[in-house]
Amino acid sequence: MIDMSNDYILTIDVDWAPDWMIEYVANLLVRKNVKATWFVTHASPAIEAIKHRRDLFEIGIHPNCLPGSTHGNNEDEVLRHIKEIVPDAISMRTHGLYQSSPFLTKAAIDHGISIDVSLFLPRTSNLTQHCIKWHGAELWRIPYFWEDDSEMFEDDPIWTFSDPRLHVKGLKVFDFHLTYIVLNTDTFSVYEKLKYEKQLSMWDLDFIRPHVSNSHGPKTLFFELVDYLSNSGGRWIRELVSSKKK
Ligand SMILES: [Zn+2]
Repeated sequence: MIDMSNDYILTIDVDWAPDWMIEYVANLLVRKNVKATWFVTHASPAIEAIKHRRDLFEIGIHPNCLPGSTHGNNEDEVLRHIKEIVPDAISMRTHGLYQSSPFLTKAAIDHGISIDVSLFLPRTSNLTQHCIKWHGAELWRIPYFWEDDSEMFEDDPIWTFSDPRLHVKGLKVFDFHLTYIVLNTDTFSVYEKLKYEKQLSMWDLDFIRPHVSNSHGPKTLFFELVDYLSNSGGRWIRELVSSKKK
């Protein structure tokens, strides 16, 4: 039997979640001793705390280049702003999967990004790392395989780790959002409705409690994946590249 235990990779998009959500998920990962790569959107005390757990956490960036971004008015401003928060970040997933060849080249050459994880190929087998060399830039791309909010729109969503569709050959990079883990909802409109009622940064447990699902959802899959990864300890995004380079 092929050992695929190293092919399951945990990534988290912070997406401006309040500190209590960051702490909730970080504490679980610390308790289980599981590595994860976080793509951060802002500075905060909880972000500072995960930056100090480099034994467990890789910190990448989650730049927002979409209109109305609080990160800046153009690509350079956005990348400069987010790199000030995590100066040594080499990995990136863009918010909204924003990308173009000039943008990726710029991120690599001018802003020190050597790995991009903004390519979403849901439930696809045989995924692997690949390297793009544009204008002297060397940018690794790691396609990712599963995302919580994307599952909410599927007719047959995957919410349990034993689902055979999660155990295909190749890299299986998972993308979770803190908000969806905490809500555990399988319905995107629940999140939209709550966000309309109250700004995300103001959410607390009392506000979301009536909407937290007890059924299968992002949280139950997250817990199952973390449990599984606690056997091997998991891997960071950056480790996928260093092991490939040799
Ligand atoms: Zn995002």
